[in-house]
Amino acid sequence: ASGYSLLRDPHHNKGLAFTEKERDAHYLRGLLPPAIATQELQEKKLMHSLRQYQVPLQRYMALMDLQERNERLYYKLLIDHVEELLPVVYTPTVGEACQKYGSIFRRPQGLYISLKEKGKILETLKNWPQRNIQVIVVTDGERILGLGDLGCQGMGIPVGKLALYTALGGVRPSACLPVTIDVGTNNEKLLKDEFYIGLRQKRATGQEYKELLHEFMSAVKQNYGEKVLIQFEDFANHNAFELLARYRTSHLVFNDDIQGTASVVLAGLVAALKLVGGTLAEHTFLFLGAGEAGTGIAELIALEMSKQTKAPLTESRKKIWLVDSKGLIVSPRKESLQHFKKPWAHEHEPVNTLLEAVKAIKPTVLIGSSGVGRTFTKDVVEAMSSFNEKPVILALSNPTSQSECTAEEAYTWSKGRAIFASGSPFDPVEYGGKLFVPGQANNAYIFPGFGLGLIISGAIRVHDDMLLAASEALAAQVSQENYEKGLIYPPFSNIRKISADIAASVAAKAYELGLASRLPRPEDLVKYAESCMYTPVYRNYR
Ligand code: NAP
Ligand code: MN
Repeated sequence: ASGYSLLRDPHHNKGLAFTEKERDAHYLRGLLPPAIATQELQEKKLMHSLRQYQVPLQRYMALMDLQERNERLYYKLLIDHVEELLPVVYTPTVGEACQKYGSIFRRPQGLYISLKEKGKILETLKNWPQRNIQVIVVTDGERILGLGDLGCQGMGIPVGKLALYTALGGVRPSACLPVTIDVGTNNEKLLKDEFYIGLRQKRATGQEYKELLHEFMSAVKQNYGEKVLIQFEDFANHNAFELLARYRTSHLVFNDDIQGTASVVLAGLVAALKLVGGTLAEHTFLFLGAGEAGTGIAELIALEMSKQTKAPLTESRKKIWLVDSKGLIVSPRKESLQHFKKPWAHEHEPVNTLLEAVKAIKPTVLIGSSGVGRTFTKDVVEAMSSFNEKPVILALSNPTSQSECTAEEAYTWSKGRAIFASGSPFDPVEYGGKLFVPGQANNAYIFPGFGLGLIISGAIRVHDDMLLAASEALAAQVSQENYEKGLIYPPFSNIRKISADIAASVAAKAYELGLASRLPRPEDLVKYAESCMYTPVYRNYR
């Protein structure tokens, strides 16, 4: 290939880092200015220019350009500046990027499968240049973060999640496939937008929807085999629960909104127990929000409780209560509840508000997963603090504007007694002369390592015990020093090591359950996981 095309191939381009010898051997003479830069110097220069941008979306676009220009440098930058860049390539900035996706991308990333591809999905998959796919992240764009239906423009989510699979979990970029399924959108604004990139029609539902999804799932298995991981992302909750239930026995599927969230939150709770004492079963949990996140977390807590106590799942569930938009979920409401809420309809008279529910149930742990901000009011936090010495309060709703309460409110209203973590990041808070550092229950702690564990063991199905294993591995990473600041999650700077540990625990579980196909089992799974991880340092070209 010519030097000119080498510079335009993002998989091989190194920009000014090409050495004199490489410039001679690959016809690059004159195509680059004379200076030679190391990858480190290139990183320094890029961080410098990124920091010049005041608008987060400009940073996002600059990173997108870099990914299209020089893939290794892009991942090196992400890995080395993970805490600073995570909010750019992922929530919250990726949300804004999706809202404007049609007008910001230069070259399409990922595979678009719309109703027009019905009957031709297998052919469509074959148009993708890479053959050895290990992870697919797929969305239908109906519930993008807390932003609702963004139709085809949801593509930013699979693209962003897979960037994290590579940067945080070490999955090779060429093994990642972002997919957006376009069945239309009910977003009126997009339908009227002349620049909208998706199908200009209302969402297909029912049989038509099911058939397209089924064709996709079958084509994926036929084309890539049984070991490809399919991660469902940002589907509306009715479809999310159904797809997971339908395909979990025939495919390697994982829903991050339900299962990934559950695993990361359980990890935080396991860690929080070190600070508040007691076992899971000795605590009482109350959720505001009974959707994908809320019921997913609730179920995983119940599973872990039952593992510990040997009590039946139905008993463990009784320690967990949920409030939805109609009030506390209780037995008199059972008939009219969606099926995923039914297991939580415990014996109790109707209760309408969260505050009344807090007073009636007296939970030790309060978890917000409703997507509605400002709902953990002063009264609610004070009530929690009146019967708990150390109330555990998790405000998970994203983005920041939707958080149930701020870190400052949680610490102030509880007089510095709350153990607090949130979905969106908050700055440390000083209260009563002490510095409190709120943890972030970010799914990015779990899914990259979880996926890596499935890949390295050649797992063919996801089992709930693997989610529990991931939670325990993450909780074990919280140090004494972290606990002293009130943190129930480890710092992100160590994420590649954390991912390797999670991967090893998940893989170990896969072997134990007989779900691993990579045989024989490697002796030291942590070492093996680390050895499998992609590193984006430049290669030498002869
Ligand atoms: P979802 O499936 O749509 O569920 C939302 C739930 O909240 C539903 O049960 C809904 O009630 C309830 N709700 C809505 N408004 C309410 C109100 N005013 N009072 C009480 N309940 C109300 O959404 P999801 O996927 O679970 O996500 C929920 C939130 O969690 C989002 O903000 C998301 O960003 C956040 N989240 C955070 C993390 C994390 O921190 N790692 C992970 C995942 C999600 P009905 O059922 O009655 O409609
Ligand atoms: Mn999601």
